[in-house]
Amino acid sequence: MSEQKPAAETRTFEAEVSRLLHMMVHSVYSNRDVFLRELISNAADACEKLRTLSLSDPAIAEGGDAFRIVIEADKEAPSLAIADNGIGMDRQELIDNLGTIAQSGTRAFLEQAGEGAKGSALIGQFGVGFYSAFMVADSVTVLSRKAGSDEAWRWHSDGKGAYEIEPVDLAEAPARGTRIVLHLNPDNASYAETETIERIVTAYSAHVPVPIVLKLADG
Ligand code: ADP
Ligand code: MG
Repeated sequence: MSEQKPAAETRTFEAEVSRLLHMMVHSVYSNRDVFLRELISNAADACEKLRTLSLSDPAIAEGGDAFRIVIEADKEAPSLAIADNGIGMDRQELIDNLGTIAQSGTRAFLEQAGEGAKGSALIGQFGVGFYSAFMVADSVTVLSRKAGSDEAWRWHSDGKGAYEIEPVDLAEAPARGTRIVLHLNPDNASYAETETIERIVTAYSAHVPVPIVLKLADG
């Protein structure tokens, strides 16, 4: 007795997201490290959201592991994954959060950023969130399972105007929360190296209210 699953779907980004992604990919912004801080900060936010929800609805986080963020690198691929066991996203949330620009900060960034060097400089000031992953990755895969849901979703994009979204088997997704895999481009393969990851995480983790676990091949 299995329900008919919705099929894989290809959707186009909101025009402003495409513009932002184009800026990320062609960014001459020198401090690309910000992408990792942005993804860690999103992971921590997701844990904090579930922690807050569970105060009034303890069942929602029941049976799960303690909140944590896991960073895993694969030098061969090269790839970098950031996983949290926070609130997670359902299909509609993936579409709304990772396909449009809902954030006022990002909108303000786009308004001020022209093309070229000016935009690049502003990336650092604004911290433009999830989309900064495309500064270092040729493509990004997001696997997410919302807390309390028995569905999991895969979002994938090469940042060139469109993304795919499809249901995945629960075995392929985190038990709860979100796993973001960056398929690093060759120029940015150093982000799969222990030294680089440790440097960024050490500098930043003091500000993060959730433990960060590093799973690095040579670490
Ligand atoms: P911001 O963090 O400023 O809202 P981002 O671009 O970093 O902007 O993220 C956009 C939205 O995507 C977040 O507000 C959140 O709703 C969702 N999101 C991103 N990463 C995660 C995650 N790891 N878990 C749950 N939701 C996430
Ligand atoms: Mg963010």
